Amino acid sequence: MSQLDLLQGKSRLDISIALLRHWEPEEGYYLAFSGGKDSIVLHRLAEMAGVKFDAHYSVTTIDPPEVCRFMRTEYPTVRWEHPAHTFYWHVARRGVPTRRNRWCCDELKEGGGRGRAIILTGVRAEESPSRAKRGQVETCRRTGGRMLHPIRDWTETEVWEFIHAEKLPHPSLYGEGWHRIGCVCCPFENRVAKSIARWPRIWENVRRALHKMWADKLGEDREIYKRFTGPDDLYDWWCSRDRPYPPRFPQFREAERRFDEELDEWVDYDEQGELPGLFV
Ligand code: SF4
Repeated sequence: MSQLDLLQGKSRLDISIALLRHWEPEEGYYLAFSGGKDSIVLHRLAEMAGVKFDAHYSVTTIDPPEVCRFMRTEYPTVRWEHPAHTFYWHVARRGVPTRRNRWCCDELKEGGGRGRAIILTGVRAEESPSRAKRGQVETCRRTGGRMLHPIRDWTETEVWEFIHAEKLPHPSLYGEGWHRIGCVCCPFENRVAKSIARWPRIWENVRRALHKMWADKLGEDREIYKRFTGPDDLYDWWCSRDRPYPPRFPQFREAERRFDEELDEWVDYDEQGELPGLFV
């Protein structure tokens, strides 16, 4: 039976369950779990479908503590995958992620499930135009590995209706006006002041990482040294989210060549002297 035949005339819920049963790999699914509403629904659907799966949470080190506690209590079987380095460690070497350069997803979030036959995700088309273009089943041309997005066509209303109908526990942050509960200082989060007020230490750690980066003259975007007066100025720009990237200081047009030479010297720096704890 083709996938199309399988899905005709069915409700969204039936379709998701039929997809999960249709594609079930012998070894079971790798279920990418985030503790958010979509992955809670995905987890429940996999249970309802009766398919084999193991759920994994990719720790980003800027996770909301409330969500971590929720997962430990409500989903104790989820396996936590820890990255080699913290988000702050990367910031101290690469700079802050932006909407155009969100290296942190690659480094901290999207590596899970390599080598597994099929990764299950809670991606939904409604979330963004780029997600809307994704197929329900995607195959990697290089590795042959697959991703299945069983709730791709669900609306947010349907997700919540399902959560309430099934009486599924969910993080308390949703009840406090947070619609997305991913990484605390994600470049896609615009309510920065509210976030800083709630998780001040996480934001302060980013500022400290930028101070370290600035002291060592590191970072992927070396233009920042010509456009910001210091790490605090860079941090404030990053927190503003809508302030345009500042123009170069006029004096750098004069001294640009010499400045680039100095930066070249700096990037060969000796990694000794690293702050203990925070950036490892
Ligand atoms: S901060 Fe945002 S862009 Fe970075 S890993 Fe988290 S979700 Fe992805």
